[in-house]
Amino acid sequence: MLYVACEGASTEPDYLEYLNERFGEGDDRKRRSFKIQPVFRKNGMTPSGVVEAARKVAREDEAWALFDRDQWDDIPQAIRVAAESKVEVAFSHPSFDLWLLLHFQPFAGAQSGSSGLVVEKLRRAKGADAFKDYDRRGDKNVRGARRDALNSKEGRAVKHARSLVGSCARGDCDPDGARFEPVGRDAGPWSPRTWTARSGHAPDCPILQRDPSTDVWRLLVALGIDGREADASRDENG
Ligand SMILES: [Zn+2]
Repeated sequence: MLYVACEGASTEPDYLEYLNERFGEGDDRKRRSFKIQPVFRKNGMTPSGVVEAARKVAREDEAWALFDRDQWDDIPQAIRVAAESKVEVAFSHPSFDLWLLLHFQPFAGAQSGSSGLVVEKLRRAKGADAFKDYDRRGDKNVRGARRDALNSKEGRAVKHARSLVGSCARGDCDPDGARFEPVGRDAGPWSPRTWTARSGHAPDCPILQRDPSTDVWRLLVALGIDGREADASRDENG
């Protein structure tokens, strides 16, 4: 059981339920079974609220916080609390929608916190017909045909997200530097810089300048999802 708290009340919780349904039983090769408990509020939460909620609900269990760049400015505070309480961070810049888009195509170019172009590309991406009305009239669910469209493209999304780490403007960010092993709640101190470097970005790569990027791939690899394809993409990149 792991707890994943998120900013939004629709897209991310829907996606986490999809992971449970599609992969939660594990498989007979190497993937263990898991159950994600999504943690969210009806009207959403700020990034620091997300970290706080994950910390409280998870107690001693594994906890993750999913949040975006596009809306809030209390991210440094969120990172501080996450590092103190060992809540894993899956940060997306500009938004979680980038993670969805990477299932269908690669993406590049700084967006300065705006999710507009990412959403536009998602609506028009090849194979993403189910997303053609995404985020119109507040329709940001990830259910039904949208889940079907994502299904089996996880390896591709992981590969595209890894390559965004490698092409980060900092230059010394490297997806092979990402860390997945669980860190206990009572482990020794981690600084905010080293904690967010678990994403593969260099410790001196400021999180707000990781534009564009998404750490959600690290949650999937931590769960053993598409580990083999992730390995294959490492070989290609390596
Ligand atoms: Zn970086």
